[in-house]
Amino acid sequence: MAENMISVEDARAIIFAKVGAMSEEEVPLADACGRPLAAAVSTDIDISPFAHSAMDGFAVRTADLVDASLENPIELDVVGHEAAGSVFGGSVEPGCAVRIMTGAPVPEGADAVVKYEVVGVVSGDGGDGSRVSFSAPAQVGENIRAAGLEAVAGAEVLAVGEVLTPAGCGLAASAGAETVRVRRRPRVGIISLGSELVAPLTVPGRGMIRDANSSDLVAAAREVGALPRFYGIAPDDPERIRALMLRAVEECDFVVTSGGASAGDYDYVTALAAEEGEVFFDRVAMRPGKSQTFGLIHGVPFVGLAGNPAAAAVGFEMLVRPALRLMMGYRELERPVQRARVTVDQRKKQPRRYYLRSRLCRNAAGELEVTPAKSQNSGLFGTLQHANCLLIVPEDADGVRAGDMVDCLRIDLPEGAVL
Ligand code: AMP
Ligand code: MG
Repeated sequence: MAENMISVEDARAIIFAKVGAMSEEEVPLADACGRPLAAAVSTDIDISPFAHSAMDGFAVRTADLVDASLENPIELDVVGHEAAGSVFGGSVEPGCAVRIMTGAPVPEGADAVVKYEVVGVVSGDGGDGSRVSFSAPAQVGENIRAAGLEAVAGAEVLAVGEVLTPAGCGLAASAGAETVRVRRRPRVGIISLGSELVAPLTVPGRGMIRDANSSDLVAAAREVGALPRFYGIAPDDPERIRALMLRAVEECDFVVTSGGASAGDYDYVTALAAEEGEVFFDRVAMRPGKSQTFGLIHGVPFVGLAGNPAAAAVGFEMLVRPALRLMMGYRELERPVQRARVTVDQRKKQPRRYYLRSRLCRNAAGELEVTPAKSQNSGLFGTLQHANCLLIVPEDADGVRAGDMVDCLRIDLPEGAVL
C-alpha cells in the first residue's frame, strides 16, 4: 500500500473526528420523521389520561356477576350511557351497569367491561333505563385500558438520538408536542469539475461528456436527509474552481466535488484545498474511489471525490454519507453486512479493498448467493443502479473464487438494519 494511502476505516475516523454536529432546530412532527431527536420528549399527562373501555359494551362490577352462567343469567339495570368524550357522572352501584362505548372513561364503581355482543337485552334498547343479562362472570380489568398504560405523567417517551417514526410522531402528539427538536439538515454544496463536462440537456460535442455525477450526488445527499445545492460545473482552471469552492464553503455545511482529484495534469482540487485550508488525506485504499481528498476549507468539511461515476458514487456512500448522518445526530452509521456465497471467480490486482457492485439473491435452495456485475469499470453508473450490495474483497486478498463465502454491504438497507 502506498504510503499516503489510508484505509477506509482510517479515512472515516478522520472525517468523523473533524465534522461537528449540526445546530438544533424545532420542526413540526412530520418534518422530523426519519430524523434523530436532538432533545427528549416527555409527557405532561398520563397516556392515556384515564382508564377507558377497549370495547363497546357494559361497565359492570365483577362482584355482581360471580355466579352468572347460561343456566343462571344475572340481570342488571342500565343506569347510564357513555360515549367517547362524554362522562357518566355517577358511580355504578351493585345491581347496575353503564352502557359504554370504546374510549369512554370507565365509571366509578365498575371494574370490568363486558362486550356488547355477549350481553342479552331483556328490556329497553340496551341504553339508559334498559335491563340486560349476563351469562358468564367477568374478570377484573377485562376490556379496560388502564390510565398511563403508555406512559405516566412526567415520563420520557422519546429519547435523544431516537429516530422518529410515524408512530413516534403519534406518541409525541399524545405527550402534548406538535414540534420536536432535531439537528438541522446540512446544506451540501456539490460541484462538478472538468473542462469536458456539459449539462445533461446538451448533446455533447466531440471530446465532451454529460455531467452525470452531480445528478447522482444531489440525489444521494437528499436521500441521506441533507439539503443539496448544485453549484455548477467548473472547468479545469484553478481560479474558476477556487471561486466556486469558496462560494460553496461560504454557504454550505459540507462541500463535495467530483473530478479533478487524481494526480493528472489538470487535477487541482487537492492543491486548492490545501491552499485554502487543510488536507488530511488524498488517497484511500479502496476501489472504486482511490483518489479522494478530505480537508477543511475555512472550517467547512470538504470531500473531493474521484471523477469516474462509480468512484464518485461509492466514495459518497463510504465517506460522505456516514459523515452527514453523524452531523445530523444519527447513531447508526453502518449499513448491514451479510455473508453470501459468490457465484463466480473475480480476480483482484491492487492491494486495495474492492467494493464490487453486485446482486444478492436467494437461490432455489434458499441460500444467499451474490453475483458481481460483469464489468466493474468505474466509469459505469448502470452497474450500481442494478446492484443491491457491494461485495467486499479485502485489501490482502487476490480475489474471490466461486463458492467462497464473502461479505456483502447491503446498500439497499438502512444503517442499523438487523438481518
Ligand atoms: P477525473 O477525476 O477528473 O480525472 O475524471 C475521471 C473520469 O471521470 C473522466 O473520464 C471524466 O471525464 C469522468 N468524469 C469526471 N467528472 C464527471 C462528471 N461530473 N460526470 C460524468 N463523468 C465525469
Ligand atoms: Mg478531470
